[in-house]
Amino acid sequence: MTLQGSLLIGQQAVTGSEAEIYAINPATGEALAPNYRGGNHVEVDKACQLAEAAFDHYRETSLETRARFLETIAEEIEAVGEALTERGVAETGLPQARLEGERGRTCGQLRLFASVVRAGEWLDLRHDPAMPERQPLPRTDLRQRHIALGPVAVFGASNFPLAFSVAGGDTASALAAGCPVVVKGHSAHPGTSELVGRAIQRAVAKCDLPDGVFSLLFGSGNEIGQALVANPHIKAVGFTGSRRGGTALMATAHARPDPIPVYAEMSSINPVFLLPEALKARGDKIAEGFVGSLNMGAGQFCTNPGLVIGIKSAELDAFVTAAGEAVKGSAAQTMLTPGIHDAYQNGVSTLASKSNVKEIARGQTGDSPHGCQPGLFVASASDFLTDEDLQSEVFGATALVIECRDSDEMQRIAEHLEGQLTATLQMDDGDLESARQLLPTLERKAGRILANGWPTGVEVCHAMVHGGPYPATSDSRTTSVGSAAIYRFLRPVCYQNLPAGLLPEALQDNNPFNVSRLVDGKREG
Ligand code: NAP
Repeated sequence: MTLQGSLLIGQQAVTGSEAEIYAINPATGEALAPNYRGGNHVEVDKACQLAEAAFDHYRETSLETRARFLETIAEEIEAVGEALTERGVAETGLPQARLEGERGRTCGQLRLFASVVRAGEWLDLRHDPAMPERQPLPRTDLRQRHIALGPVAVFGASNFPLAFSVAGGDTASALAAGCPVVVKGHSAHPGTSELVGRAIQRAVAKCDLPDGVFSLLFGSGNEIGQALVANPHIKAVGFTGSRRGGTALMATAHARPDPIPVYAEMSSINPVFLLPEALKARGDKIAEGFVGSLNMGAGQFCTNPGLVIGIKSAELDAFVTAAGEAVKGSAAQTMLTPGIHDAYQNGVSTLASKSNVKEIARGQTGDSPHGCQPGLFVASASDFLTDEDLQSEVFGATALVIECRDSDEMQRIAEHLEGQLTATLQMDDGDLESARQLLPTLERKAGRILANGWPTGVEVCHAMVHGGPYPATSDSRTTSVGSAAIYRFLRPVCYQNLPAGLLPEALQDNNPFNVSRLVDGKREG
């Protein structure tokens, strides 16, 4: 289909009236048609009012209707075919295979949430039957279920143009929970966003759902992003991006007369601990795996391993040499946007200019105007403990190795870390005791702890946690990847002594949804 450069408000395509945004092919620097005129508070109000109008109907759709809707979105996205991946490649500089993989993940996520909706466990049904004879006081009939929070604002992420953008994890989990969604499309890939947005529009129409279940807005974050989060109809926010953007949105959400939750995934350097026995046994292999993970997607993953911690030794020196050689041989890959490339260059220059940091290796420069030249640097643990700049995320394929005097100093580094999405242990059997000592600290610091793997490549499944304490995310109690993400957009409601005729269907005595319930404290079904 031909891209129109429109905002999508319910079933309408609308031309904005504010400054134009347009995508730039980061591989060539060429501007890509069409231009998208940005929206303003008028379009934000319209989309949010429609979402509010759709809410009560949408949240009470049957589990089957909602599951079919999610599956229909996946089918409509697949039906767009090559046009989607081609536009994605042009707007992001990512390879075709990556876009194809991401489309698979996006549709897989939608289908996963469809299965979660059908299973109904997220309703978390509870019933404490009345005990009229209880002494000294009787108990009345009490029932609980989870309901959707309300319309959700989703900010598309720059680094996942499909899997964390218009129909990505935040949208899929919010729609699964029963929340209408208003997306603020990322300005770097508006064409990809429009194609996906129109696929969702078609799914809404096919499933005969109210128009306001989905809208897609383009424009500046300061204009429509802020207006969306401040809009009284919006009841929660999903965001992936910079720490600055995420904290600005948290401030807006908390300053509202009715503050709302912001689930922002922001900044993480994903420490990797090289334990001594593993380093002795297979330092070269670890170096190879590490540089492979560092370079994946030009390092533009929130789970990129940006910090490596080891104990000063001949084995650590050999690891640094081997990793440095691999970095030197690494090709430059095009970064997502000129802005992200500039931020990367600045971050690397700042690191390289510090007197307490030693440059080990830089990769190749390449021809792309926005190529990411990989980098590897080393600093001492004592400097890391006193210089907060060394914990700053450099978004791209650059990492810092920290040399510790001994295991006590390694433990102090772990304690000193900010909140992280992941923490990785490279360990052998002989490292078990050291790992055991680090574990309680890592549990406090990170959402996911790995042994002998690499943090990039996040499985979308039921047990995944893609979250962690600030600044990794704004709320460490949840995950933004995997089926548990649905709980971000739900809240419990208790029904006390309601007559059967007033109770929601899910809570009727005969358990019409046939899902497991907690009855008088005992699990049934
Ligand atoms: P970003 O600048 O935070 O922007 C993300 C989205 O939020 C955009 O739609 C942007 O709108 C909007 N936004 C930003 N600041 C806002 C504000 N103050 N109020 C309202 N909306 C706001 O992130 P990005 O463009 O994806 O990349 C920039 C940097 O973010 C990267 O260099 C990297 O450091 C970091 N990043 C981190 C991760 C991660 O997972 N850790 C992922 C992606 C990016 P506009 O359209 O106006 O820009």
